[in-house]
Amino acid sequence: MPNQFLPVARPSIGSREEELVLDALRSGWISSIGKYIDEFEVAFARYCHVDYALAVTNGTAALHLALAALDIGPGDEVILPDFTFVATANAVRYTGATPVFADIDPETLCIDPRSAERLVTKATKAIIPVHIYGHPADMDALGEIAKVHDVVLIEDAAEAHGAEYKGRRVGGLGKCGIFSFYGNKIITTGEGGAFTTSDQNLYLRAKSLRDHAMSPTRRYHHDECGFNYRMTNLQAALGVAQMERIEEFQSKRAEIMGWYRSAVVTDESIRLNRFREDVRNVYWMICLEVDWLDETRRDEFMNELKRRGIDTRPYFRTMSSLPMYKQTPQPVAERKAQTGINLPCYVELTQADVRRIAGAVNELLAEMRPNAVRDPATILSAATPFACAGLDQA
Ligand SMILES: *Cc1c(COP(=O)(O)O)cnc(C)c1O
Repeated sequence: MPNQFLPVARPSIGSREEELVLDALRSGWISSIGKYIDEFEVAFARYCHVDYALAVTNGTAALHLALAALDIGPGDEVILPDFTFVATANAVRYTGATPVFADIDPETLCIDPRSAERLVTKATKAIIPVHIYGHPADMDALGEIAKVHDVVLIEDAAEAHGAEYKGRRVGGLGKCGIFSFYGNKIITTGEGGAFTTSDQNLYLRAKSLRDHAMSPTRRYHHDECGFNYRMTNLQAALGVAQMERIEEFQSKRAEIMGWYRSAVVTDESIRLNRFREDVRNVYWMICLEVDWLDETRRDEFMNELKRRGIDTRPYFRTMSSLPMYKQTPQPVAERKAQTGINLPCYVELTQADVRRIAGAVNELLAEMRPNAVRDPATILSAATPFACAGLDQA
Protein backbone atom coordinates (compact mmCIF):
# COMPACT_ATOMS: atom_id res chain seq x y z
CA MET A 1 0.00 0.00 0.00
CA PRO A 2 1.50 3.35 -0.98
CA ASN A 3 -0.80 5.05 1.51
CA GLN A 4 0.67 5.71 4.91
CA PHE A 5 -1.32 4.41 7.91
CA LEU A 6 -3.36 7.15 9.58
CA PRO A 7 -3.94 6.60 13.32
CA VAL A 8 -6.93 8.11 15.16
CA ALA A 9 -4.69 10.23 17.37
CA ARG A 10 -1.02 10.93 17.99
CA PRO A 11 0.78 13.46 20.17
CA SER A 12 2.67 16.42 18.71
CA ILE A 13 6.11 16.44 20.34
CA GLY A 14 8.60 19.06 19.16
CA SER A 15 12.05 20.34 20.00
CA ARG A 16 10.77 22.49 22.88
CA GLU A 17 9.33 19.39 24.56
CA GLU A 18 12.71 17.64 24.15
CA GLU A 19 14.56 20.66 25.53
CA LEU A 20 12.45 21.03 28.68
CA VAL A 21 12.24 17.31 29.49
CA LEU A 22 16.01 17.02 29.12
CA ASP A 23 16.46 20.04 31.34
CA ALA A 24 14.26 18.47 34.02
CA LEU A 25 16.15 15.17 33.72
CA ARG A 26 19.56 16.82 34.02
CA SER A 27 18.43 18.94 36.98
CA GLY A 28 18.04 15.80 39.08
CA TRP A 29 14.49 16.85 40.05
CA ILE A 30 12.83 13.85 38.50
CA SER A 31 10.15 13.08 41.09
CA SER A 32 7.31 15.33 42.12
CA ILE A 33 9.20 18.36 43.40
CA GLY A 34 10.60 20.79 40.85
CA LYS A 35 10.08 24.06 39.05
CA TYR A 36 8.14 22.52 36.16
CA ILE A 37 5.40 21.28 38.49
CA ASP A 38 4.84 24.82 39.77
CA GLU A 39 5.07 26.36 36.30
CA PHE A 40 2.68 23.83 34.83
CA GLU A 41 0.10 24.28 37.59
CA VAL A 42 0.20 28.07 37.27
CA ALA A 43 -0.05 27.98 33.46
CA PHE A 44 -2.86 25.45 33.48
CA ALA A 45 -4.90 27.27 36.14
CA ARG A 46 -4.55 30.49 34.17
CA TYR A 47 -5.62 28.73 30.97
CA CYS A 48 -8.76 27.36 32.68
CA HIS A 49 -9.57 30.74 34.30
CA VAL A 50 -9.47 29.20 37.79
CA ASP A 51 -7.48 30.11 40.90
CA TYR A 52 -5.90 26.69 41.45
CA ALA A 53 -4.73 23.64 39.52
CA LEU A 54 -3.14 20.51 40.95
CA ALA A 55 -1.04 18.28 38.67
CA VAL A 56 -1.72 14.59 39.34
CA THR A 57 -0.80 11.16 37.98
CA ASN A 58 -3.72 10.83 35.54
CA GLY A 59 -7.28 11.95 34.86
CA THR A 60 -8.82 9.01 36.70
CA ALA A 61 -6.83 9.88 39.83
CA ALA A 62 -7.96 13.51 39.46
CA LEU A 63 -11.59 12.32 39.48
CA HIS A 64 -11.02 10.12 42.51
CA LEU A 65 -9.22 12.96 44.29
CA ALA A 66 -12.09 15.39 43.56
CA LEU A 67 -14.67 12.97 44.95
CA ALA A 68 -12.54 12.17 48.00
CA ALA A 69 -11.89 15.86 48.72
CA LEU A 70 -15.66 16.40 48.66
CA ASP A 71 -16.09 13.55 51.20
CA ILE A 72 -18.18 11.47 48.82
CA GLY A 73 -18.32 7.83 49.91
CA PRO A 74 -20.46 4.82 50.81
CA GLY A 75 -24.19 5.54 50.84
CA ASP A 76 -23.85 8.48 48.45
CA GLU A 77 -25.04 8.58 44.85
CA VAL A 78 -23.30 10.39 42.00
CA ILE A 79 -25.08 11.04 38.69
CA LEU A 80 -23.05 10.85 35.48
CA PRO A 81 -23.85 10.24 31.81
CA ASP A 82 -24.39 6.65 30.65
CA PHE A 83 -22.23 7.60 27.66
CA THR A 84 -18.65 8.35 28.77
CA PHE A 85 -15.23 6.74 29.15
CA VAL A 86 -15.32 4.17 31.96
CA ALA A 87 -12.98 6.20 34.23
CA THR A 88 -15.85 8.53 35.21
CA ALA A 89 -17.89 5.65 36.64
CA ASN A 90 -14.89 3.79 38.09
CA ALA A 91 -13.73 6.80 40.11
CA VAL A 92 -17.16 6.96 41.77
CA ARG A 93 -16.98 3.23 42.51
CA TYR A 94 -13.49 3.63 44.11
CA THR A 95 -15.01 5.88 46.79
CA GLY A 96 -17.71 3.33 47.65
CA ALA A 97 -20.44 5.65 46.33
CA THR A 98 -22.96 4.46 43.72
CA PRO A 99 -22.74 5.75 40.14
CA VAL A 100 -26.16 6.51 38.62
CA PHE A 101 -26.40 6.82 34.84
CA ALA A 102 -28.38 9.55 33.09
CA ASP A 103 -29.25 9.74 29.41
CA ILE A 104 -27.59 12.14 26.99
CA ASP A 105 -28.64 14.89 24.61
CA PRO A 106 -28.74 13.43 21.07
CA GLU A 107 -27.02 16.50 19.58
CA THR A 108 -24.23 17.38 22.02
CA LEU A 109 -23.82 13.79 23.37
CA CYS A 110 -23.45 15.35 26.84
CA ILE A 111 -25.60 14.56 29.89
CA ASP A 112 -29.27 15.50 29.44
CA PRO A 113 -30.09 17.80 32.40
CA ARG A 114 -33.74 16.65 32.49
CA SER A 115 -32.71 13.01 32.70
CA ALA A 116 -30.18 13.87 35.43
CA GLU A 117 -32.79 15.72 37.45
CA ARG A 118 -35.20 12.78 37.34
CA LEU A 119 -32.49 10.62 38.96
CA VAL A 120 -31.82 12.92 41.92
CA THR A 121 -32.63 11.33 45.31
CA LYS A 122 -31.90 12.26 48.92
CA ALA A 123 -28.62 10.33 48.58
CA THR A 124 -27.37 12.32 45.55
CA LYS A 125 -24.22 14.27 46.40
CA ALA A 126 -22.83 15.23 43.01
CA ILE A 127 -23.42 15.32 39.27
CA ILE A 128 -20.45 14.78 36.94
CA PRO A 129 -21.12 16.37 33.54
CA VAL A 130 -18.63 15.04 30.95
CA HIS A 131 -17.67 17.49 28.18
CA ILE A 132 -17.62 14.64 25.74
CA TYR A 133 -15.41 14.71 22.64
CA GLY A 134 -14.61 18.36 23.46
CA HIS A 135 -18.19 19.68 23.59
CA PRO A 136 -19.25 21.39 26.85
CA ALA A 137 -22.30 20.07 28.70
CA ASP A 138 -25.29 22.34 29.37
CA MET A 139 -23.82 23.91 32.51
CA ASP A 140 -26.55 26.53 33.11
CA ALA A 141 -29.31 23.92 33.27
CA LEU A 142 -27.12 21.67 35.43
CA GLY A 143 -26.17 24.57 37.71
CA GLU A 144 -29.86 25.26 38.30
CA ILE A 145 -30.47 21.62 39.24
CA ALA A 146 -27.41 21.60 41.50
CA LYS A 147 -28.67 24.68 43.32
CA VAL A 148 -32.25 23.45 43.76
CA HIS A 149 -31.20 20.01 45.02
CA ASP A 150 -28.07 21.08 46.90
CA VAL A 151 -25.60 18.87 45.01
CA VAL A 152 -22.17 19.79 43.60
CA LEU A 153 -21.02 19.74 39.98
CA ILE A 154 -17.69 18.09 39.18
CA GLU A 155 -16.74 18.70 35.54
CA ASP A 156 -15.08 15.81 33.75
CA ALA A 157 -13.19 17.94 31.23
CA ALA A 158 -10.67 15.18 30.41
CA GLU A 159 -11.42 15.66 26.69
CA ALA A 160 -12.13 19.39 26.62
CA HIS A 161 -9.14 21.58 27.55
CA GLY A 162 -10.00 25.15 26.54
CA ALA A 163 -13.64 24.44 25.61
CA GLU A 164 -16.04 27.26 26.47
CA TYR A 165 -19.67 27.44 27.51
CA LYS A 166 -21.21 30.89 26.88
CA GLY A 167 -17.73 32.41 26.89
CA ARG A 168 -16.64 30.69 30.11
CA ARG A 169 -13.89 28.05 30.20
CA VAL A 170 -14.59 24.51 31.32
CA GLY A 171 -12.89 23.38 34.52
CA GLY A 172 -14.15 26.46 36.34
CA LEU A 173 -17.89 26.08 35.79
CA GLY A 174 -18.73 23.79 38.72
CA LYS A 175 -17.35 23.25 42.20
CA CYS A 176 -14.24 21.71 40.62
CA GLY A 177 -13.07 20.09 37.40
CA ILE A 178 -10.66 17.45 36.18
CA PHE A 179 -8.52 17.01 33.05
CA SER A 180 -6.46 14.23 31.48
CA PHE A 181 -3.07 14.55 29.76
CA TYR A 182 -2.97 11.04 28.32
CA GLY A 183 -1.13 10.73 24.99
CA ASN A 184 -4.24 11.17 22.84
CA LYS A 185 -5.74 14.15 24.68
CA ILE A 186 -5.62 17.84 23.59
CA ILE A 187 -2.26 18.24 25.35
CA THR A 188 -0.22 15.45 26.89
CA THR A 189 2.27 14.77 29.68
CA GLY A 190 2.52 11.07 28.76
CA GLU A 191 0.25 10.08 31.60
CA GLY A 192 -1.13 12.87 33.74
CA GLY A 193 -4.11 14.79 34.95
CA ALA A 194 -5.20 17.95 36.72
CA PHE A 195 -7.71 18.97 39.34
CA THR A 196 -9.01 22.55 39.01
CA THR A 197 -11.03 24.76 41.35
CA SER A 198 -11.38 28.31 42.62
CA ASP A 199 -12.46 27.12 46.07
CA GLN A 200 -9.44 27.59 48.32
CA ASN A 201 -10.52 25.14 51.02
CA LEU A 202 -11.28 22.42 48.52
CA TYR A 203 -7.93 23.05 46.82
CA LEU A 204 -6.04 22.72 50.11
CA ARG A 205 -7.90 19.52 50.98
CA ALA A 206 -7.21 17.98 47.55
CA LYS A 207 -3.57 19.07 47.72
CA SER A 208 -3.19 17.37 51.08
CA LEU A 209 -4.90 14.15 49.92
CA ARG A 210 -2.65 14.07 46.83
CA ASP A 211 0.33 13.62 49.18
CA HIS A 212 -0.93 11.10 51.77
CA ALA A 213 -2.52 13.92 53.79
CA MET A 214 0.85 14.58 55.41
CA SER A 215 0.76 17.28 58.07
CA PRO A 216 2.46 20.46 56.80
CA THR A 217 4.01 20.99 60.24
CA ARG A 218 4.72 17.46 61.53
CA ARG A 219 6.56 15.26 59.06
CA TYR A 220 5.17 11.71 58.81
CA HIS A 221 2.09 12.65 60.75
CA HIS A 222 -1.13 11.96 58.82
CA ASP A 223 -4.62 12.87 60.04
CA GLU A 224 -6.39 10.83 57.40
CA CYS A 225 -5.80 8.26 54.70
CA GLY A 226 -4.63 10.02 51.53
CA PHE A 227 -3.02 8.92 48.27
CA ASN A 228 0.12 9.34 46.24
CA TYR A 229 -1.36 11.03 43.15
CA ARG A 230 1.61 13.33 42.44
CA MET A 231 2.79 14.11 38.90
CA THR A 232 6.54 14.03 38.21
CA ASN A 233 8.62 17.07 37.28
CA LEU A 234 9.63 15.25 34.06
CA GLN A 235 5.99 15.00 33.02
CA ALA A 236 5.33 18.59 34.03
CA ALA A 237 8.26 19.74 31.83
CA LEU A 238 6.51 18.10 28.88
CA GLY A 239 3.30 19.80 30.01
CA VAL A 240 4.91 23.26 30.15
CA ALA A 241 6.14 22.86 26.56
CA GLN A 242 2.70 21.66 25.44
CA MET A 243 1.00 24.63 27.15
CA GLU A 244 3.14 26.99 25.07
CA ARG A 245 1.59 25.41 21.97
CA ILE A 246 -1.97 24.81 23.12
CA GLU A 247 -3.57 27.58 21.05
CA GLU A 248 -1.70 26.35 17.97
CA PHE A 249 -3.18 22.88 18.69
CA GLN A 250 -6.67 24.32 19.10
CA SER A 251 -6.70 26.27 15.86
CA LYS A 252 -5.29 23.25 14.02
CA ARG A 253 -8.09 21.02 15.34
CA ALA A 254 -10.73 23.56 14.29
CA GLU A 255 -9.13 23.73 10.85
CA ILE A 256 -9.16 19.93 10.55
CA MET A 257 -12.84 19.86 11.52
CA GLY A 258 -13.47 22.39 8.72
CA TRP A 259 -11.66 20.16 6.21
CA TYR A 260 -13.87 17.22 7.24
CA ARG A 261 -17.01 19.33 6.92
CA SER A 262 -16.19 20.30 3.38
CA ALA A 263 -15.05 16.81 2.30
CA VAL A 264 -17.44 14.32 3.94
CA VAL A 265 -20.80 14.06 2.17
CA THR A 266 -23.47 14.46 4.85
CA ASP A 267 -27.27 14.42 4.71
CA GLU A 268 -30.13 13.90 7.16
CA SER A 269 -28.83 10.42 8.04
CA ILE A 270 -25.04 11.01 7.94
CA ARG A 271 -23.70 13.66 10.34
CA LEU A 272 -20.45 15.08 11.67
CA ASN A 273 -20.02 16.73 15.11
CA ARG A 274 -22.97 18.89 16.17
CA PHE A 275 -22.52 21.85 18.46
CA ARG A 276 -24.59 24.43 20.28
CA GLU A 277 -24.03 27.93 18.96
CA ASP A 278 -23.07 29.30 22.38
CA VAL A 279 -20.09 26.98 22.94
CA ARG A 280 -16.50 26.64 21.81
CA ASN A 281 -16.11 22.98 20.89
CA VAL A 282 -12.45 21.88 20.90
CA TYR A 283 -13.12 18.77 18.77
CA TRP A 284 -11.16 16.20 20.71
CA MET A 285 -12.56 13.63 18.30
CA ILE A 286 -14.13 13.84 14.87
CA CYS A 287 -17.56 12.21 15.27
CA LEU A 288 -19.35 10.50 12.40
CA GLU A 289 -22.89 9.23 12.92
CA VAL A 290 -24.71 7.16 10.33
CA ASP A 291 -28.31 6.41 11.31
CA TRP A 292 -28.72 3.31 9.17
CA LEU A 293 -25.58 1.50 10.37
CA ASP A 294 -26.16 -0.99 13.18
CA GLU A 295 -23.32 -2.27 15.35
CA THR A 296 -22.39 -5.12 12.98
CA ARG A 297 -22.43 -2.97 9.85
CA ARG A 298 -20.49 -0.27 11.69
CA ASP A 299 -17.77 -2.80 12.48
CA GLU A 300 -17.65 -3.85 8.82
CA PHE A 301 -17.31 -0.20 7.81
CA MET A 302 -14.49 0.36 10.31
CA ASN A 303 -12.69 -2.82 9.21
CA GLU A 304 -12.86 -1.74 5.60
CA LEU A 305 -11.37 1.66 6.48
CA LYS A 306 -8.60 -0.08 8.39
CA ARG A 307 -7.87 -2.23 5.35
CA ARG A 308 -7.34 1.06 3.50
CA GLY A 309 -4.89 2.28 6.16
CA ILE A 310 -7.32 4.49 8.08
CA ASP A 311 -7.80 3.86 11.77
CA THR A 312 -11.08 4.64 13.53
CA ARG A 313 -12.69 4.08 16.94
CA PRO A 314 -16.23 3.15 17.83
CA TYR A 315 -17.97 5.55 20.21
CA PHE A 316 -17.60 4.66 23.90
CA ARG A 317 -19.86 1.89 25.18
CA THR A 318 -22.57 2.80 27.65
CA MET A 319 -21.71 2.27 31.31
CA SER A 320 -24.98 0.35 31.76
CA SER A 321 -23.83 -2.24 29.21
CA LEU A 322 -20.62 -3.09 31.11
CA PRO A 323 -20.64 -6.17 33.38
CA MET A 324 -19.76 -4.30 36.59
CA TYR A 325 -22.45 -1.65 36.09
CA LYS A 326 -25.08 -3.73 34.26
CA GLN A 327 -28.54 -2.17 34.28
CA THR A 328 -31.30 -0.91 31.98
CA PRO A 329 -29.60 1.21 29.33
CA GLN A 330 -30.50 4.82 28.64
CA PRO A 331 -32.02 4.82 25.13
CA VAL A 332 -30.26 7.77 23.45
CA ALA A 333 -26.89 6.80 24.95
CA GLU A 334 -27.32 3.23 23.77
CA ARG A 335 -28.27 4.18 20.22
CA LYS A 336 -25.30 6.57 19.91
CA ALA A 337 -22.87 4.06 21.42
CA GLN A 338 -23.85 1.44 18.87
CA THR A 339 -23.57 3.60 15.76
CA GLY A 340 -21.03 6.39 16.28
CA ILE A 341 -17.50 6.39 14.85
CA ASN A 342 -14.44 8.56 15.56
CA LEU A 343 -12.21 9.50 12.64
CA PRO A 344 -8.53 10.58 12.82
CA CYS A 345 -7.77 14.02 14.28
CA TYR A 346 -4.31 15.17 15.33
CA VAL A 347 -2.11 18.19 14.82
CA GLU A 348 0.08 16.68 12.07
CA LEU A 349 -2.88 15.51 9.95
CA THR A 350 -2.83 17.25 6.54
CA GLN A 351 -5.66 18.39 4.28
CA ALA A 352 -4.59 15.70 1.79
CA ASP A 353 -4.95 13.08 4.57
CA VAL A 354 -8.45 14.34 5.35
CA ARG A 355 -9.39 14.23 1.65
CA ARG A 356 -8.16 10.65 1.53
CA ILE A 357 -10.18 9.70 4.63
CA ALA A 358 -13.30 11.50 3.38
CA GLY A 359 -12.96 9.87 -0.05
CA ALA A 360 -12.93 6.42 1.52
CA VAL A 361 -15.80 7.27 3.89
CA ASN A 362 -17.97 8.68 1.07
CA GLU A 363 -17.32 5.74 -1.21
CA LEU A 364 -17.99 3.08 1.43
CA LEU A 365 -21.13 4.72 2.73
CA ALA A 366 -22.51 5.04 -0.80
CA GLU A 367 -21.94 1.29 -1.26
CA MET A 368 -23.41 0.32 2.09
CA ARG A 369 -26.49 2.57 2.10
CA PRO A 370 -29.73 0.61 2.05
CA ASN A 371 -32.17 1.53 -0.73
CA ALA A 372 -34.86 2.90 1.48
CA VAL A 373 -34.12 4.45 4.83
CA ARG A 374 -37.13 4.33 7.14
CA ASP A 375 -35.64 4.97 10.53
CA PRO A 376 -37.93 7.19 12.64
CA ALA A 377 -34.85 8.43 14.52
CA THR A 378 -33.56 9.85 11.24
CA ILE A 379 -36.72 11.83 10.67
CA LEU A 380 -36.65 13.10 14.24
CA SER A 381 -33.07 14.30 14.16
CA ALA A 382 -33.44 15.84 10.71
CA ALA A 383 -36.31 17.92 12.08
CA THR A 384 -34.32 19.25 15.03
CA PRO A 385 -33.41 22.90 14.48
CA PHE A 386 -29.76 22.85 15.36
CA ALA A 387 -26.51 24.44 14.28
CA CYS A 388 -24.59 21.78 12.42
CA ALA A 389 -24.04 22.65 8.77
CA GLY A 390 -20.67 23.38 7.16
CA LEU A 391 -19.86 26.37 9.32
CA ASP A 392 -17.40 26.30 12.12
CA GLN A 393 -16.88 28.60 15.07
CA ALA A 394 -13.23 29.52 15.49
C1 LIG B 1 -9.32 10.09 29.27
C2 LIG B 1 -10.53 10.24 30.14
C3 LIG B 1 -10.48 10.09 31.54
C4 LIG B 1 -9.32 9.50 32.28
O1 LIG B 1 -8.11 10.03 32.07
P1 LIG B 1 -6.77 9.15 32.28
O2 LIG B 1 -5.73 10.21 32.27
O3 LIG B 1 -6.69 8.22 31.12
O4 LIG B 1 -6.90 8.46 33.58
C5 LIG B 1 -11.62 10.39 32.28
N1 LIG B 1 -12.75 10.79 31.70
C6 LIG B 1 -12.86 10.91 30.36
C7 LIG B 1 -14.16 11.35 29.79
C8 LIG B 1 -11.76 10.62 29.54
O5 LIG B 1 -11.87 10.70 28.21
